[in-house]
Amino acid sequence: MPSQSLPVQPMLDLRAQYATIREEVLAAVSKVFEDQAFVLGSEVAALEQEIAAYCRTPYAVACASGTDALILAMMALDIGPGDEVITVPYTFFATASSITRVGALPVFVDILDDTMNMDPDRLARVIAAHPKAKAVVPVHLFGACADMDPILDIAARHGLHVIEDSAQSIGAAYKGRMAGSMGVIGCFSFFPTKNLGGCGDGGIMTTSGPRLAKRLASLRVHGMDVKYYHDEIGINSRLDALQATILRVKLHHLDSWTRARQAVAARYIENLQPLGAAVKLPVAAAHPASHVYHQFVIRAADRDALRNRIEAAGIRTDMYYPLPLHLQKCFEYLGYKPGDLPVSEAASRECIALPIYPEMKLEAVDRVCAEITSHYN
Ligand SMILES: *Cc1c(COP(=O)(O)O)cnc(C)c1O
Repeated sequence: MPSQSLPVQPMLDLRAQYATIREEVLAAVSKVFEDQAFVLGSEVAALEQEIAAYCRTPYAVACASGTDALILAMMALDIGPGDEVITVPYTFFATASSITRVGALPVFVDILDDTMNMDPDRLARVIAAHPKAKAVVPVHLFGACADMDPILDIAARHGLHVIEDSAQSIGAAYKGRMAGSMGVIGCFSFFPTKNLGGCGDGGIMTTSGPRLAKRLASLRVHGMDVKYYHDEIGINSRLDALQATILRVKLHHLDSWTRARQAVAARYIENLQPLGAAVKLPVAAAHPASHVYHQFVIRAADRDALRNRIEAAGIRTDMYYPLPLHLQKCFEYLGYKPGDLPVSEAASRECIALPIYPEMKLEAVDRVCAEITSHYN
């Protein structure tokens, strides 16, 4: 048995990050407390401009969570009952639940085995079989963009909107374009564990359409442009000034944090490559500069045995995702069966997420890799 005396290696360490920005964060929130203006307002407007500039889109509209960003995006595109929206089953739940929240039906398309992102060829076949489809929601999973050119092309040929679920991929690029700048709307989450995380929930939508931006901004405040006059029914999904001011502080550090994540990922890859076929490594590692490594997910045929071994050595791991969405109980009514989306199902059986965060020491990476290597030797 490996030594039990080593400290527990967590999946991520937000306290280590806070230690590096404590003074900046406290000064920023202190100013908001002095101002006593807590919802939307100038801090949120400033964050919106900075995120728009960062993602190279003309507009950004903040809201209360990444889930709400997806819901608001669908509302703004008039997606509702009778419509279908095509997405992947290998993602966080909110990608699909947001579709049902506006009354539409999710239709699942399988992923590619290597990138674990949406398969454009399968998408073409699913679109052909679903004339009621109104939008496609590719997910930029784990920090790497989906193969957007063919997805955008197929969607455009069939007149479908493309909404990018960019919750895990702020700062990721695809052929020089930023995540969230390629579809009609990009949806981001500021959940604390995301690459740019607040101190609570938060989200933002990016778009290049001035009318869409205006409508999103209205929908998040009850569809209200002129105070107490409602032209349509929106929701209450506003971002707090406290979150915005913290996120503005953190945004300044995001690129250096991304480079640190990439260095951790590079070390994992260097250490684990000698294991050959025993573990499948993230593929977008072929273009490291564009992958922001929200997660470092490897795949192993003997996943549970490997995971037990690593965990026994005090190293925390996770599974993203243990059950694909088409097999979730709440989606039984959609009629999918095991075997319908085999690539996603295999990924669910084989995935292990390893610790990764900007402050992770390379020696800590080596410790995780030594454990994995000894499992196979
Ligand atoms: C986190 C996440 C969301 C939801 O964001 P919240 O802010 O938690 O509501 C949506 N999609 C994906 C892929 C996510 O990882």
